[in-house]
Amino acid sequence: MKLTKEQLKTDFKKKLMNLYAERVSESSKLHQYLTLGSLVKEYASEKWMNTNIQYTKKHVKQVYYFSMEFLIGRLLGSNLLNLGITDLCSEALHDFGIDLNEIEEVENDAGLGNGGLGRLAACFLDSMASIGIPGHGCGIRYDYGLFEQKIINGYQVEIPDNWLKHGNVWEVRKEDKAAVVKFGGKVSTVFEDNKLCFKHEDYEAVLAIPYDTPVIGYENNTVNTLRLWSAETVDKDFDLDSFSKGEYTKAVEHKYSVQSISQVLYPDDTRADGKILRLKQQYFFVSAGLQSIIRRYKKSNLPINRFDEFIAIHINDTHPSIAVAELMRLLVDEENLSWDDAFKITTNTFAYTNHTIMSEALEKWPIEMFKKLLPRIFMIVEEIDRRFCIEINEKYNDPQKVHDMAIISDGNIKMAYLAIVGSHSVNGVAKLHTEILKSRELNNFYNFYPYKFNNKTNGITHRRWLLKSNPKLSSLITETIGNKWIHDPNKLIDILAFSKNASFQNKIYEIKQSNKIDFANHVKDNYGIIIDPNSIYDVQVKRLHAYKRQLLNIFGILDLYYRLKSNPNLDIVPRTFFFGAKAAPGYYLAKRTIKLINTVADKINNDSSINGKIKIIFLENYSVSLAEKIIPCADVSEQISTTTKEASGTGNMKFMMNGAITVATLDGANVEMSEAVGENNIVIFGMKKDDVIDLEKNKTYHSIDYYNSDSRIKFIIDNLINGSLDVPTSEFADIHKYLIANNDEYFVLKDFDSYINAENKIDGLYKNRGKWLEMSISNIAHSGVFSSDNTIEQYSKEIWNTDRITINMHH
Ligand SMILES: *Cc1c(COP(=O)(O)O)cnc(C)c1O
Repeated sequence: MKLTKEQLKTDFKKKLMNLYAERVSESSKLHQYLTLGSLVKEYASEKWMNTNIQYTKKHVKQVYYFSMEFLIGRLLGSNLLNLGITDLCSEALHDFGIDLNEIEEVENDAGLGNGGLGRLAACFLDSMASIGIPGHGCGIRYDYGLFEQKIINGYQVEIPDNWLKHGNVWEVRKEDKAAVVKFGGKVSTVFEDNKLCFKHEDYEAVLAIPYDTPVIGYENNTVNTLRLWSAETVDKDFDLDSFSKGEYTKAVEHKYSVQSISQVLYPDDTRADGKILRLKQQYFFVSAGLQSIIRRYKKSNLPINRFDEFIAIHINDTHPSIAVAELMRLLVDEENLSWDDAFKITTNTFAYTNHTIMSEALEKWPIEMFKKLLPRIFMIVEEIDRRFCIEINEKYNDPQKVHDMAIISDGNIKMAYLAIVGSHSVNGVAKLHTEILKSRELNNFYNFYPYKFNNKTNGITHRRWLLKSNPKLSSLITETIGNKWIHDPNKLIDILAFSKNASFQNKIYEIKQSNKIDFANHVKDNYGIIIDPNSIYDVQVKRLHAYKRQLLNIFGILDLYYRLKSNPNLDIVPRTFFFGAKAAPGYYLAKRTIKLINTVADKINNDSSINGKIKIIFLENYSVSLAEKIIPCADVSEQISTTTKEASGTGNMKFMMNGAITVATLDGANVEMSEAVGENNIVIFGMKKDDVIDLEKNKTYHSIDYYNSDSRIKFIIDNLINGSLDVPTSEFADIHKYLIANNDEYFVLKDFDSYINAENKIDGLYKNRGKWLEMSISNIAHSGVFSSDNTIEQYSKEIWNTDRITINMHH
C-alpha cells in the first residue's frame, strides 16, 4: 500500500498520542522528532523483516563489515530520503505548521567514530543497502560518542557526548540474541573423546547485548542491519555473589567495570596507545559478532565447513583483526574442525583494509597484557605465528626475514600482520596508498603474498553528500539531465555538456550563492560574526593533525594578511576562511594549533584596516551534520596534507561533488580526483611523493634554511613568539620549536611558497566567473566515480564475491 499524505498525518497524530498522550498543537519539537522517528522506523520494518527472510531463504552470501567506528550522523533525513517519502512528510508536517528541517535539527548525531575511517563505514552501509548487497555492520554501541567540542577563550574544551539522552528511536534492543564474551582466567588442556581440548576456567563473563539499527536502501525495499553491541553484567545489575555476601560496593564496582567496555569511544584516530580497555573493546564486539554470525549460519542447516561460501567478513583497519584468532577458536574449539580446515575457512572469510602508513597508528599489544586478558586467543595467535614463521623460513631461509615478518616479535603482537596472514585480501584505500604499502610499509608481505594485495579507492555516498545535503543543486541536476544519476552516480558526467552553457553556469552560481547566504546567517546566529556571501568561502574541515597541515593554511592566511596590511589596495577577492577540526584530547600540538587559528581569527576579524577583506571562522564541533551544512557552500576545498601521509581522504570527494575547487597536494585520492577532473580543474601544489620519500630517507631537510631564505616565512615565524598576535610570547613557543628547533616533520615551510602561489591562483581564477563555473561544473560532473556505490561494487566483485539481490515485497 502506498503511503499518502493523509495517512501519514493520521499515523503521526496517533503515534504522538500513543507515545506522549499529546495533541500536535501542544507537543514539543523533541516529541515531534521522536514521534516521526518511530513512525519512520515502523514504515521500514516490514521491508526489514522481508529482507532478512529473503536473505535466509535464498541462502545468499552475507557480508559483515566489522568496524570499531560508525560515524553515522543523523538518520531521520537520510531514512526519509531512502524510503522516498521526504516530500510527503514535509508536506504532511507543513499542514500541522511544523517545519521538517527544524525537526531534523533535534536529532543528535550518532558520532560513533573519529573521522574518515568511521564515516567510510557509514557510507559503505548506505551503499551496500542501496545497491542491494546483503551487507551488515558490526560494532560497538558506545554510550558516549566522540566528544563535543566547545571553544572557550580560543581553546578546545571537550564535553561528553551524551547522544542517547533522549533515547534512540532507530535501534531495537535484542536481549534474546545476547552473547557471552569471556575475559581472563586460565586455560588447561585435557584429553577428551580422543582429542585435545582446551578448558577455559575462572574467566570473567561479560554479556553482550545487540542493538539493531535498520540500514535502509535507496528506494529498493532492501533494509540491512547495523548491529552494535553493548556490555552488561551477566547477572543483570550486580555480581550476585558479592551482593549476597553483603559486599554491595564491590558488586556495584563490578557492574561499572563491565559496563565501561562499551562506555566511550577512544577519541584518538592517529595513535594506538596500547590501553587494555581498548583491547577489551575490540575482543568484546568481535567475539559477540562472530558468535552471532555462526549461530545464525548454523540455523540455516548448512555445514560449518562451507562457512566461507556464505559469509564474508571485512576488517576495517586492524582494530577488529583479533577476529582472525577468535574465528579460529570458534571453529576449532567449539565446532571441532581441524586446525588446517579452520584456517582455510578463516582466511577465505576475512578481508582486511589498511588505512594508514603512519607508524604510530600501527596497533601492537604487549604479550603479557594480551596473554592475561585473552589466554586462549593468545595460544591461537602463537600457533598461527609459529606456522607462518615456518613458511617464511622455508621460502627465504633467512632468520632476519622471519623476525621482520613474525606476528609476535620484540615482546609485541603485531595486529596488522595477524590481519594479513589471516585474510585472503589486503587492500589500501587509494592508488598511491596501495602502491606505498606494496613497495614500502608492507613490502615483505607483498612479496610473500602478492595475490592478496589490491586497491579499493574510498568513496562517499552521493545520497547523503549531494542529494540530501544540497537539495537545490540536486534539483538543478535532475532538471538538466534527468534523475538517472541518483541510481547511477556515474551519470553525473552528463552535466559536463553544460559546463560552458551560460544559463546553466548562472544557475550553478545562484545555487552556490544561496547556500552561502544560508550559511552566513548560520554564522551570524551562532558566532555573531558578519561574513560576506560574495567572498570566496575557503574551507578546511577535518580532524586536526600535524600531517593535515592546518598550520600551512593559517600561515597562508597570515601572509595574505601581512600583504594587505602593507598594501591596503591589494586587488583580491575577499575571502572567508573556515576551519572545523577536533583535536584528540591528549594531542598537545593539535590543541595549540586550534588556539593559534582562533588567535589569528580574533586579530584579523577585528582589524578594520583591511576593510573586511579576510574573515576567519573556526566552526565549533565539526561533525557529520555540520559537514552537511558547510560543504555545499564551499568555493574552495583545502586538501593540503603532506604527500604520502593521507591514505585517501573522503572530505576531498564531498567537496568535489558539491562543486568546490580543490587546492591539493598529490596525496591520497587527490591523485585520482586530479586524473578524473583534469589538472586544469584542480589546483595542485607542493612536494611530490618521491620528494617526500627522498627527504625522509636522506634526512636532508632543514627547515631553518627556509626560515633564513624566505623573509615571508621569517616574519610569520617570528611573529608567533614576539607578542604581535596579542597573546603572551609563550603561547605559541612550542609551535615555533616544533617548526624550527625540531625541524618541521611535515614540511610546512618547504611547501609554503608553492602553497601561496596556489592560493593566489585561486584568486585569479575566481575573478573570471565563467571560467570558475566551468571548472566547478567539471568537478561535479566527474565526481560520480567517487560515489561509494562504485567502491562497494568493486569490494563486492573483487573481494567478497557477493551478488546483488532484489528484495520483493509480498502482500
Ligand atoms: C568526511 C568526514 C571526515 C573525513 O574528512 P577528511 O578530510 O577525509 O579527513 C571527518 N569527519 C567528518 C565529520 C566527515 O564527515
